Amino acid sequence: MEVKGKRFEGKVAIVTASTQGIGFSIAERLGLEGAAVVISSRRQKNVDEAVEKLKGEGIETLGLACHVSNAQQRKDLIEKTIQKYGKIDVIVSNAAANPSVDGILETKESVLDKLWEINVKATILLLQDGAPHLKEGSSVVFISSIAAFQPPRGLSMYGVTKTALLGLTKALAAEMAPNTRVNCVAPGFVQTRFADFLTTDKSRRKALEERTLLGRLGTTQDMAAAAAYLASDDASYITGETLVVAGGMPSRL
Ligand code: NAP
Repeated sequence: MEVKGKRFEGKVAIVTASTQGIGFSIAERLGLEGAAVVISSRRQKNVDEAVEKLKGEGIETLGLACHVSNAQQRKDLIEKTIQKYGKIDVIVSNAAANPSVDGILETKESVLDKLWEINVKATILLLQDGAPHLKEGSSVVFISSIAAFQPPRGLSMYGVTKTALLGLTKALAAEMAPNTRVNCVAPGFVQTRFADFLTTDKSRRKALEERTLLGRLGTTQDMAAAAAYLASDDASYITGETLVVAGGMPSRL
């Protein structure tokens, strides 16, 4: 990834679910722009591999195992960041699950709980732990989805949890102002493991590409650029907003 600016020099950024895909690219982008980045995901092996890659690019990196719904691991993520770097400037909450393609009325209670827990509640609990360390000029970014605006079939309850993040962005922007800005990125479709079931089949992929104005799927770097902008001082007068990064796919007026 070629990056010219250094907007995060001297800053410390935590990115959850960041050992591959969009989260990894966000950590990489923030790191290449000068941040010390704290990356995490469920599997230690994935953490170790991602730390190696980032360090190989000259990025100051701390890697920790953190399943976002594990209270102790969330606390450790915050505390070990403070122990090592003494502060937190940016938190990007990126983890999500999409365990079912069932319609909402057919979705089992255990699956409803899991969707709420990972996609919404864990973000709130992480910020409850992190907020006391977020000082003037800090920034939080949530990763929602284009599915938040019109939850599609097969992604419907997942989409509803992503709609909840739009509300959470507004509510926490008010609660955390003026010291901390809270914004959100709503990605379109991006080829990652998460979206494999949508993007590997050729005809399905073509149909998704045709729904964009730009004729292509998004890249993890497209999402990283948007998250970095919102987290940076370039967006210092922006809070409570969601930036749709979906190649012109329909979202809202
Ligand atoms: P991905 O490439 O599959 O990467 C997921 C990352 O999250 C991995 O590093 C994984 O590592 C980690 N992870 C998964 N569950 C976790 C958990 N419970 N706790 C902590 N880490 C966890 O996924 P992605 O496509 O980049 O998705 C990232 C975000 O973008 C999600 O919020 C998703 O809803 C959103 N999004 C994606 C798309 C798309 O088309 N890809 C579109 C809209 C929105 P481990 O396996 O080691 O945990």
